[in-house]
Amino acid sequence: MPDIVQNYIGGKWSQAQSGETFPTYNPATEEILAVAPTSSTNDVNAAVNAAKAAYKHWRLTPAPRRGEILFKVAQILTERKEQLARLMTQEMGKILAETRGDVQEAIDMAYYMGGEGRRLLGYTAPVEMPNKFGMAMRDSVGVIGLITPWNFPIAVPSWKILPALIAGNTIVFKPSEDTPATSAAFVKVFEDAGLPPGVLNLVTGAGAAGAALANHPDVRVISFTGSTDTGLKVYSQAASLGKKVSLEMGGKNAIIVLDDANLDLAVDAIIWSAFGTTGQRCTATSRLIVQSGIKPKLIDALVAKSKTLKVGDGLDDKTNVGPLVNAKGRDKVEKYVEIGKQEGAKLLVGGQRTDMGKGYFYAPTLFSDVSRSMRIAREEIFGPVLSAIEVASLDEAVEVNNESAYGLSSSIFTENVNAAFRAIRDLTTGIVYINHGTTGAEIQFPFGGTRGTGNGMREAGQAGMDSFTEWKSVYVDFSGRLQRAQIDTESVLQEP
Ligand code: ADP
Repeated sequence: MPDIVQNYIGGKWSQAQSGETFPTYNPATEEILAVAPTSSTNDVNAAVNAAKAAYKHWRLTPAPRRGEILFKVAQILTERKEQLARLMTQEMGKILAETRGDVQEAIDMAYYMGGEGRRLLGYTAPVEMPNKFGMAMRDSVGVIGLITPWNFPIAVPSWKILPALIAGNTIVFKPSEDTPATSAAFVKVFEDAGLPPGVLNLVTGAGAAGAALANHPDVRVISFTGSTDTGLKVYSQAASLGKKVSLEMGGKNAIIVLDDANLDLAVDAIIWSAFGTTGQRCTATSRLIVQSGIKPKLIDALVAKSKTLKVGDGLDDKTNVGPLVNAKGRDKVEKYVEIGKQEGAKLLVGGQRTDMGKGYFYAPTLFSDVSRSMRIAREEIFGPVLSAIEVASLDEAVEVNNESAYGLSSSIFTENVNAAFRAIRDLTTGIVYINHGTTGAEIQFPFGGTRGTGNGMREAGQAGMDSFTEWKSVYVDFSGRLQRAQIDTESVLQEP
């Protein structure tokens, strides 16, 4: 029996006002997993109204009390980690080790942001006049709209929901239409932790519900993670209404391997970063930029290792690579593999479906002899496809890395400290790794990218608070006197 998912508005679970629903499918079996409300503008309006009403009280709830609820969220997530991980694997396909990691990211974020309830640091600075005091403090914004993708159905919403809540905002959350059941189970954790009604509202549905949120005049901030096409649409809709928007979109991340790299370390990292989550992470490695000297050995090792990966249902402990999320995702991978072949790249391994009878499975795929201008070297594929580009030097490697239209993460493998520090200085992505794959962000550091990946905002860490707060500068005059229009410094200093 499929799960019946409901919206959560003003503390009540309900169907869409129209009564319409849509199914989601287990990508490993193609069976219906859940049926969820198809929310329309009416449902989004109801959710925004609930969030507006709740904001009056939530913003005045002391931040340490808000933090206690977040600690409770962390505890409940820990108790339900296995259950949530299994549901997530069934709904979007990635293997259990990864879905457990996805829930763990939210647990870490809940503890981190719960602690922020006793910090939310602002600052004071000296002011120009005597008997005056000045400070800058973070203030809540109001109702926040969240539009999120399916590849990290708990982690990515947690990067948005938890900082937004600790700052005193209320939320309307529109998750991906591919993961409504996991999203509802995540929201239930907040209800069970004692979050007051209306503070966090859930509306499921497709693009129309997201667009209604981006267009709602009472939603002051939109935080979006997803594809570049949709992100740019949301950006222009929201910008025309003067909203603050945070965007995290595509990536075309690279691992650079220099001749002096530790080969075994590099192979492990490349395999995990390229084929983990079936290549469907925004930080996945889709380009391998390899120096000529090490290339033959590295490519041989990658081909051998790729052939050992077990593709299958993510619920099976022996599986290394789960299915793609849906038929559309697999079609896109197939299209790009054809493009790669036509462009003249050399297909070394993979390049075909893994026939399991059912499910959207695709074999880990490696192309070599890829040139910088090929489409498979430039466009986001979002699947288990790695393109190897040969370079002569560190300088050329950096140039190839930086010419991407995207700028999320990059990595270099070298045993030479000078080369590593030059890479730290010269790679122009938002995240840089040394001797580590391009994936694996920790919640205490900013997450986000340059160029086409985003719009300059960051999630997580202290920087993650910027999307969900306004700075308020406060001046207090405690002289108790009428201010003269102009007081020169000397007379001020002579006052008793
Ligand atoms: P993908 O194609 O990888 O699922 P999308 O960028 O289409 O990624 O989806 C990311 C999120 O944006 C999802 O929650 C989706 O429903 C939502 N979305 C899609 N179209 C729109 C739109 N026009 N306006 C607002 N949100 C949208």
